[in-house]
This record gives sequence, C-alpha cells and structure tokens, in this order.
Amino acid sequence: MNDFQNIQREVRNDGFCVLTFDRANSSANIFDTQTFEELNAHLDYLEGVTKNGPVQGVIFLSAKGKIFIAGADLHSFTSGAMSDERLGGIIDGGHRTFARIAALPVPTVAAIQGVCVGGGTELTLACDWRVACNDSATKIGLPEVQLGILPAWGGSVRLPRLIGLPKALEIILTGKQLAGVPAKKCGLVDELAYPEGMLSTAERMIKRGKRPAAKTLFTNLPPARGIVAALARRNTLAKTRGNYPAATRAIEVAVNALGTSLDAGLRMEREAFIALAKTDAARNLMSIFFLQERAKKLRLPAEMGEAGKPAPVGRLAVVGAGLMGAGIAQWSAARGMRVLLKDIAPAALAKGMQSIGKIFRDAARRRVFTKADAQAGMDRVVPVAGDVPMRDVNLVIEAAVEKLDLKKKIFAGLEAQVPAGTVLATNTSALSIDRIADGLRAPENVVGIHFFNPVHLMQLVELVRGERTGSAALNTALGYVKGIGKLPVIVKDSPGFLVNRILLPYMAEALRLYFEEGHPAEQVDRLMLDFGMPMGPLRLMDEVGVDVGDHVARDLSARLPGSMPKDAGAGKAVAAMLEKGFLGRKAGKGIYLYSEGKKKDETLPPLNPAVRPDHGAMPASASSDSFLRDRLVLVMVNEAARVLEEGVVEAPEDVDFGMIMGTGWAPFRGGPLRYADARGLPEIVRRLEEIASRAGEHFRPAKLLRDLAAQGKTFYSATMPTKAGNTVPEPSQQELPALSAV
Ligand code: NAD
Repeated sequence: MNDFQNIQREVRNDGFCVLTFDRANSSANIFDTQTFEELNAHLDYLEGVTKNGPVQGVIFLSAKGKIFIAGADLHSFTSGAMSDERLGGIIDGGHRTFARIAALPVPTVAAIQGVCVGGGTELTLACDWRVACNDSATKIGLPEVQLGILPAWGGSVRLPRLIGLPKALEIILTGKQLAGVPAKKCGLVDELAYPEGMLSTAERMIKRGKRPAAKTLFTNLPPARGIVAALARRNTLAKTRGNYPAATRAIEVAVNALGTSLDAGLRMEREAFIALAKTDAARNLMSIFFLQERAKKLRLPAEMGEAGKPAPVGRLAVVGAGLMGAGIAQWSAARGMRVLLKDIAPAALAKGMQSIGKIFRDAARRRVFTKADAQAGMDRVVPVAGDVPMRDVNLVIEAAVEKLDLKKKIFAGLEAQVPAGTVLATNTSALSIDRIADGLRAPENVVGIHFFNPVHLMQLVELVRGERTGSAALNTALGYVKGIGKLPVIVKDSPGFLVNRILLPYMAEALRLYFEEGHPAEQVDRLMLDFGMPMGPLRLMDEVGVDVGDHVARDLSARLPGSMPKDAGAGKAVAAMLEKGFLGRKAGKGIYLYSEGKKKDETLPPLNPAVRPDHGAMPASASSDSFLRDRLVLVMVNEAARVLEEGVVEAPEDVDFGMIMGTGWAPFRGGPLRYADARGLPEIVRRLEEIASRAGEHFRPAKLLRDLAAQGKTFYSATMPTKAGNTVPEPSQQELPALSAV
C-alpha cells in the first residue's frame, strides 16, 4: 500500500473499501498524472474484487480536512503543446477513469469534506451517492467556465442529468461554489453530515445499493430544455457581451448532451474543451490563477536583501474607524487577529463598530462563518476613543482622513507611544509615504498598506515602499497581508502608486469625451463594457464619488504632468456637479441617477438630466467607436508602460495582476500589458502617435513602449526573472497549484 503517494486504500473487514485522497507533501489534493495513475491502479484492484468478491462498497474520502479535491493540475492545460491529441488525451484520461468508477458493480459514495471543485466534483458525479459535510470549509462547484474552458470530465453531461438543466447551468455558468446545505437543496448531494459523522453516513448510504436509474426530469425534455437554453443564452450574452466563448459553448454542450447518450455527450465535452483550451481567453484567465499563486509567495525585492522571517503581528492597532479603518479591522479580526480600533470621534467609532458587526452578521448568514465564529471575531475588535497603552502592538495601520498634516501628526504621536521597531503603516490612497515619514525618528518603520474599498471584497493590497522604508517593516507588512489572506503587490512610493496611477488617466479621458467633446455618456460606458470592463468609466466615477475622483485626478495631473491633460477634472462641468451636490452614487445623483432599491450592479442607470443639458447640445467629434475605445484603453496601456519603465513595480505581471484584481480590468484579456503584447507593440505605438496628434500630447508613447517595439520585443518577453524569484512559477516546480475558483 505504501507505493501510493496520493491515494491510500483500506479494505476493511466489513467489506467496505475506503480510498483516501492525501497527496504527499501538499495541503491540497489535485488531479495530476500521478494521481490518475494511482486511482486507476486502485480501480484495477477493485474491478477484480467487486464482482462477487469481498468488497461490497467503495467510499471516497479526503484526509486534508479543508480540501476534498481542488480540481485538475492547471499546468497540464497550459504547458506543453496545445495539440488536439494532447488536449484530447487529458480529457480521455478523466473520462475513462470516471467511467470505471461509474461502472463498478458495487455502490460508491463520495464523502465530501472541504473544497471540492472541477475534477473533484466530476469524480463525485461518477459515484452513486454523495454526502457533504455541513462545515464552513465545504464548498462544491465547477469553476471551469471562469477559466475559459468547460467542465469536460463529465461535469457538463452528468450534472444536468442529476439536478436538471436550469440548476446545472447556474452552477456551470457562474462557477459558484455551494456549501453543504444549498448543495443538498438542489440535489447535488444526497445527504448532509457533521464532520465526525461523515464516514458513518457514507457507510449507511452504501447500504442503499447502486443508485436506481432516475426518470428524465421535465426540464431536460425537448420543449422545456429549448426554452431553458434560449433563456440561458440570452442572459449569458447580456452579461458577457460575447467576450467569454466558454459560457456559450458550455450551454451548447449541456443542452445537446441531454438529447443523446452519455458517451456521445462526453465526446461533445471533449471537442468543446479542445477548442476552448486553445483560446487566448482561456490562457489569460488561467494565468490569473498563476498570478494569484505568485502573489501568495511574493518576497521582498532582491535589492532589499534577506529580511529574515517577518515579525508575526500579534496585536494590530487601526487608527481611524471610518469606511476603510472599520473594514481593515473587521477583516483582520476575522482572520484571528486582536485589533485595537481607535478614532477621535466617539460617534465615528460607534458607526465603525456597527459596520463591522454588519459585515460579520452578513457573512454568518452566507455561512462564511458560524454565528459563534462571527461573534468571536467581533469580540476581537476593541474600540477605543482615547489614548490607551500600545505596548503589545507591533503593527499600526492609520486610516484617518486623507490630509498630510493630520497624518504626520498622527505618526509623530504614534512613534512616541509604541515600542521601538513597531511598524507604522498608512492606508493613504495618494499621499507620499516618504512625506508622511518626514521628521520621524525612525522613518524606516513607515510603510504603505493600501487596501481597496470595500476591504472585505477586494483581495488586492498595494504594499508601498517608501525610499526609507526598511526591509524589516516591509517584510512585516508583507507577512501581515499574506497572513490575512489578501494578495499583495509591492509598489514604489510614487503618485497614485500602481492602480490609481493607471485608472485615473482613463477616468479623466472619459470625462473629456463626455463633458468636453460631447460624446454620449452611454456610448463611452458601453464601449468599455463591451471591451470587458465590469463598469464603464463614467459610471465608475459615480461609484468612486465625483468629489473623490476629481480630487485624485487633479492631484495626479499636477504630480504627473505628462500623463494627463492639464485640466484633468474636466473643469467647469465637474465643478458645477460638485456645487449641486451631484457626488455620484452616495448622493443618489451623479452623472447617472440612482434610486433606492435598484441593484448595485446596474450597468447603465438613467442619465442625470440636470448634468446633461450643460453640454448636451455640443456636437460630438466625428470619431469612430474604435478610435474612442483606443483613447480609453491605450491611455491605460501607455501609463502601464510608464509605471514599468519607472520601476514602480518589478515586472509586467505586477501591473496586469494589480489592474485585474484592483479594477476588474477585462480578465480574459490578461491585463493592459498582456493585451498590448497580444495586439503587437509596433501597432500600439503607431496608434498612440495617431491619437496624440488628435487628442493630446499625453498620448505620446512611453519610451519603454517605443524601445520594445523597435527591438521586436514584448513586455513579457523582455522580463528577466528577478533574484527574489517573483516570477510566475514554472510547471516543473514542486508545489503545483490546483484548479480553483478565480
Ligand atoms: P473616512 O472619512 O470614512 O474615515 C476617516 C476616520 O478617521 C473618521 O472616522 C475620523 O473620525 C477619523 N479620524 C480623523 N482624525 C483622526 C485622528 N487624529 N485619530 C483617529 N481618527 C481620526 O475615510 P476613509 O474613506 O475610511 O479613508 C481613510 C483613509 O483611507 C484615507 O487616507 C483614504 O485616502 C484611504 N483610502 C480610502 C479609500 C476609499 O475608497 N474610501 C480607499 C483606499 C484608501
């Protein structure tokens, strides 16, 4: 038995065989070549002993606790030749193995505890019965469409047969992961059990025998199935705007497979997978997964040397209990930290605690935490209005209002209060870390930890390294950010850091198009929605707040005169909006109008008529959609090139990762630099020159762009691996990441 590294087999005296997934030297179980080989070896054995033999039933378990099976080894899809034979071979291997499980003459039960996604879920679908654990770690789903492919080891064919087409499509198209209770409700699992009752429940289920053939569900029969398919297609196209071919292809396979045999359905899966896996969208979407893995393993820049192990942050103090401070305190407490939350205004402190309570309660309702865990998290936040001793605090995060003088005062006060060596971080969105550290005795302790709003939903955190930031402080901040499960990117202290630096010129350009050049707001926003952004730039301005957006845009245009036109706030029109209180969504009115009860993700609400007439009569300049789109997209590409050229970040991966995770930048395009590489840098340079002569000097292509184009290189081909090793892990490296939700 010891020859098996990933799946252990125990044949018990009562005639049950337990196959336990327990991948050696890893916290996750995944399907890679070795695991398939082992599973097939166990099946060789089982096929020999189940026909009138000693084994009466098979139970699949995981020994990992928090992970059942985290899907396929993604590297096997992205590395090596993308030939039809190779890709088809990957699919055939899964089909053959799972068909062997389905064909065993004895009952089979999957006892699902922990994350079970992709190929893991497809294995369970080949079993007769499924029991899910009702703990908070258990989540079952099929995230493949989010990765630009489709469930192709039987998931697209077996799931609709099991739970009906509408529910199956919802799971396949959204990639959402179901906890035990909803999984039971929709029929994805047959039973629920507590962790300690998983095995005994599975044993009981074996006694039910093989699963009887079910009657075809009404929704899977021809007339209903056509209606469900048409509806799914329409909704999908409205959401994806045709940018995600995997979604439409998955619908096609799931629907058509219902009208044919299981084998013919599996062949459809195979064909669709081969076509999708070769698309740029699939490659780019899968690369986001690798970029996330890279962020989890991020180290200090090479020139900072080895900082050793980061000081573990035992107790955290957060100064300022507003929107951001409360969010940071909540997230940190939810991850087990004790947090001191300070504010000078008792009312603000009370409001902050209320919003923390609400996030915890909502999370408990969604079963992210048990009620008891949510209460324990809440209890870890201690609100304080006055000065209290901070002896055992080793990290402070300041999230007070955005004013340099105030922040300097707070930092000077903190330095006098905390033990020597305590890391003092600021959550500033735009102020210089170095300026904040000016005048301190130990400026090396100061670092930026820039969270995005809302903290509990945004995974990205910019770690801002000032000129004097010491390696120990940066390392502690890095350890803290990784420790609370956020994804860091290290940026240099420079205007707008990474994400705002690239985003603001884009928003400013959109304001110009609308206010100065008379292009309809809907056209500007629709162009970018069609490009793949989650929200148009004018709608985004409303979301950020017209006052905040205008302030940051002005600040950046003053500090980066080459990156934006002079009057980056679109001048009079925005000033008039501010005067009338049209501050965006928070005021109910901005460029668009918002009414109570409308969904937050509404893409194009009605325009605010009180804003439009000021410029509505202006004739729009005669520009094609493609020219306008390029003005909006390439202003970001150019700024992204400048960011890289100035060394604000180390590598193109940082830029693309930051923009995708921080702004939702068209993920299937892989980020602004990946997009530029794919389109061709000489073409980007030519187009930028053309736009510069028509729309402003800030479009002149960055030097790095021109140089790379002239040398026939791309952003990615020009990157050398850094000494710190902050590159995307190679497929050959040991700890292979697994397929999981993006
Ligand atoms: P906010 O106005 O909601 O909260 C600021 C809080 O700081 C208030 O409760 C105020 O009472 C408190 N405060 C003021 N002076 C203080 C002092 N001396 N000591 C303790 N508390 C004090 O602001 P916010 O939106 O949470 O922003 C906080 C920081 O985070 C700013 O630097 C901002 O630029 C940055 N930031 C904001 C966002 C965002 O979207 N709002 C995103 C990222 C970063």
